[in-house]
Amino acid sequence: MFQALGQIASRLLSDVKKSFARQQKEKSEKREVAPPAANYQPLKRVIITDGVGRTLFEEYAGHQGGQRGEEETGWVLLGVRQEDEALVLATLPAGAERDAGVGHVQFNSSGQVVGSRYVRQTDRRLTILGVVHTHPGSLRHPSDGDFRGDSIWVRQLRGEEGIFGIGTADSKPGNGTLVALQPRPHVQCLGKLRLSWYALGNGEKSYRPLPAGYTLGPDLARPLHLIWSDTEAHAERLDRLSRQQAGVTFEVVKGIKGPALAVLVPLAEPGHAIRVTLENGDVQYYWLRDGEVVLADPHEARIDRAVYLLLAELAAGSPH
Ligand SMILES: [Zn+2]
Repeated sequence: MFQALGQIASRLLSDVKKSFARQQKEKSEKREVAPPAANYQPLKRVIITDGVGRTLFEEYAGHQGGQRGEEETGWVLLGVRQEDEALVLATLPAGAERDAGVGHVQFNSSGQVVGSRYVRQTDRRLTILGVVHTHPGSLRHPSDGDFRGDSIWVRQLRGEEGIFGIGTADSKPGNGTLVALQPRPHVQCLGKLRLSWYALGNGEKSYRPLPAGYTLGPDLARPLHLIWSDTEAHAERLDRLSRQQAGVTFEVVKGIKGPALAVLVPLAEPGHAIRVTLENGDVQYYWLRDGEVVLADPHEARIDRAVYLLLAELAAGSPH
């Protein structure tokens, strides 16, 4: 099961690395002091914010009740890797365009790259810590196929170690769904849903059960889940735009009917920008100038090209 994860996740990781290489270069050019290299020890535990715990259990429950409930699903975990523990602060969903069946799920990696950009705006220390994926049956442990992918993938992670959560829907409901239970240090349950946590280091022959704890905190990526299908649909173009234009930022805002993704492309003149909003399959472009908002229509479906057409209009001295 889940054999594709290793390859897909490593593609994701290399995409993220490429995407941030330029930002890191800019950062070093500003002569910021780099944090000292951490002396990573094997992970002793993983701490999950209540926000992340809610996302995992709520979206897993939603997935189970949905049309694709029989398939596996998953999330990428982002957070802060400390010396011998990790704090999970954000989840990125496998997404609507995931290729999933009963025996595997692979992530839409462009969506994940844009998601990483979004959460790293809040905290640049955020890194990929691992993945959670579900098993339709009662295998509460990563499979042999999972191991083949994961054991290669972990080499690219901080401390050459990854966190792997396995979701199953096979717990006795216990206390119902109001309060989560922790029957064993590495197991978290809510209703019939169960998350079993493991760590795997480079060169290790098997996964170790990883004690998990909760703390109060957000899932920094949760707002983006509301507009994940729009984000995914344009992710490749949005990522390209972010790599080519300095200072592009993403924000989840109130749209016309519901949440929207606003992409801000700052212009050289202070207070001037192009704003692109994505909502429910629609894309809108605006000129922002000292608080004034003017609708633009570049007649181009691809977002990066549309922005460059607007920039060309600006260079030609029209129209805003
Ligand atoms: Zn699996």
